[in-house]
Amino acid sequence: MSQLLLRNTPHVIKTPLQEDHVIYQHTCNSEECGSHSYIGMTRTRLMRRLTCHLNNGSIKNHYDTVHNSRLIRDDLIKNTIILDSRRRPSPPSLPRSNIHRIKTA
Ligand SMILES: [Zn+2]
Repeated sequence: MSQLLLRNTPHVIKTPLQEDHVIYQHTCNSEECGSHSYIGMTRTRLMRRLTCHLNNGSIKNHYDTVHNSRLIRDDLIKNTIILDSRRRPSPPSLPRSNIHRIKTA
């Protein structure tokens, strides 16, 4: 995944957390949860968005209510990947209307 991103930004090396306009996926770090994951989209840098997730929202609530554990930054970052970057040209098979159905909060 990170190789894909680097290939599209050959002159500027950025970590995924510094990307903006991305669709990202957080997968719960608990094995008992299986493939439980959360997909979101952000217009700000992913790092900033994840910081918001530490304080409130669906991901925090999931850890709070399902696992009775506190979400920490390291776990949040470690288990989050970028699915797509909107800075890249959209493939024809992915019309814009699909993007709006993705939960953002
Ligand atoms: Zn979980």
